[in-house]
Amino acid sequence: MHELSIAIELVDLVTAALDDAASRTPAVRGGTALTSDPRGAAAAANAPAARDRGGPKRSRVEAVHVRLGALSGVAEEALRFSFEVAGRGTAVDGARLVVEHGPIVIACGPCHAERVLDDPCSFRCPVCGAAAGGLVRGREVELTALEVEEHAAAHR
Ligand SMILES: [Zn+2]
Repeated sequence: MHELSIAIELVDLVTAALDDAASRTPAVRGGTALTSDPRGAAAAANAPAARDRGGPKRSRVEAVHVRLGALSGVAEEALRFSFEVAGRGTAVDGARLVVEHGPIVIACGPCHAERVLDDPCSFRCPVCGAAAGGLVRGREVELTALEVEEHAAAHR
């Protein structure tokens, strides 16, 4: 299933982003208890680099925001389901998936401009009617934002 591979990529991307954030902010790390927590262990297994830097922080992702281009071919419901499955045991386990739908944007030669297509079936400039010179946006599946709740050692 197309959506499942996208969901797996998304989970990887989020995990990498969390890793990145952890390496940039050497904040409180109470990572020793993580290995006894199956979720934490799975997250740590997915992010071996984090362990080398002194253990991953216990971060819980509350929401993952994605933008689906109108031509991405991704079905929102299938993606939600896949995201839930792919996220199990990772840092995004239980996170909300917030889906935003992106427009189709074409480049119009005669107008020298980018135009938003209202009708995805007509690949023509809505202003001058010329055939679209190219697709600027519309196929993307983009991770646009993450809402993360940090559980630092001070939390205990
Ligand atoms: Zn035009």
